[in-house]
Amino acid sequence: MEKVILGRTGICVQKNGFGALPVQRVSLNEAKIILRKAYENGIQFFDSARAYSDSEEKIGLALSDVRENIYISTKTMATTVQAFWEDLETSLKMLKTDYIDIYQFHNPSFCPKPGDGTGLYEAMLEAKNQGKIHYIGLTNHGWKVAKEAIESDLYDTLQFPFSYLASEKEEELVRLCEEHNVGFICMKALSGGLITRSDIAYAYLLQYKNALPIWGIQKESELDEFISYQKQAPVLTKDIEEIIQHDRKELAGQFCCGCGYCMPCPQGIIINQCARMSLMLRRAPAENWLLEKWQAEMNKIKDCIHCGKCMTHCPYGLNTPELLQKNYEDYQTFL
Ligand code: SF4
Ligand code: SF4
Repeated sequence: MEKVILGRTGICVQKNGFGALPVQRVSLNEAKIILRKAYENGIQFFDSARAYSDSEEKIGLALSDVRENIYISTKTMATTVQAFWEDLETSLKMLKTDYIDIYQFHNPSFCPKPGDGTGLYEAMLEAKNQGKIHYIGLTNHGWKVAKEAIESDLYDTLQFPFSYLASEKEEELVRLCEEHNVGFICMKALSGGLITRSDIAYAYLLQYKNALPIWGIQKESELDEFISYQKQAPVLTKDIEEIIQHDRKELAGQFCCGCGYCMPCPQGIIINQCARMSLMLRRAPAENWLLEKWQAEMNKIKDCIHCGKCMTHCPYGLNTPELLQKNYEDYQTFL
């Protein structure tokens, strides 16, 4: 059984965290069954966000009676001190708890620091003094902000996308976290659905002793896969390494990971799916993506007015309209 220590927090948990974004999409009853099953099978770390609609509420309803046995991290997108406190109080209420283990700034466009004029970091410290949060974290999709947060030594944890498709720069962040004793919480270890073999994703992450993956779990079958790795961890065999190399080559360069930070589009284009349709068609069962619903969504690409809003918000610097166009052309051929 692999365990991870989250840097200076000292939080020591199974190398299997529960990412509670997808439980928004299932009924309360289904969410309760999945969350409870995760807990009963040794998963101790649950990550949510104020922005994930009823995800916190579902965690509160499923796990408040075992609160002291689990760790909860959640996030705020607040940009003002007032909104920070409102979010924190709402999260505590929804989670049915009087403390949050790790409270994170949710993908801020800058790294909040004391004295930067926003008062946000000071609010974190005050919340810590009041015992409402135990540790301060930051989540990000941007390499620069993430690096600044680690090097500032103001943050106990960093949450960042990381998978076997990561570049050297991203691997550097994991190493930097280790050097600074910052816990590394790894999101999108399946790269937003591009990686379809969870055993390979898990085996790859086993090499990083300080990385705690939080798997976005929506179905019991997905949960069962991750639970099984606790009992018998997949090993990085030669065959698996070859698959990783092959996927890296196939997906080399920049690709849309589906994070959605470029949304909404004024023309209603579902950018975070449409800009990676070619990959989804070839890497996952294609039938769903060829339904009329998705044909209609792909047709919206023709309505792009090239306003450039998506490009300015893409943390990976993608030329999104161009990517959309390429995916549109490929989709028509595929059809
Ligand atoms: S450039 Fe096109 S896809 Fe991007 S936000 Fe504007 S209309 Fe939407
Ligand atoms: S285009 Fe960029 S911001 Fe938009 S979903 Fe893809 S990776 Fe994320």
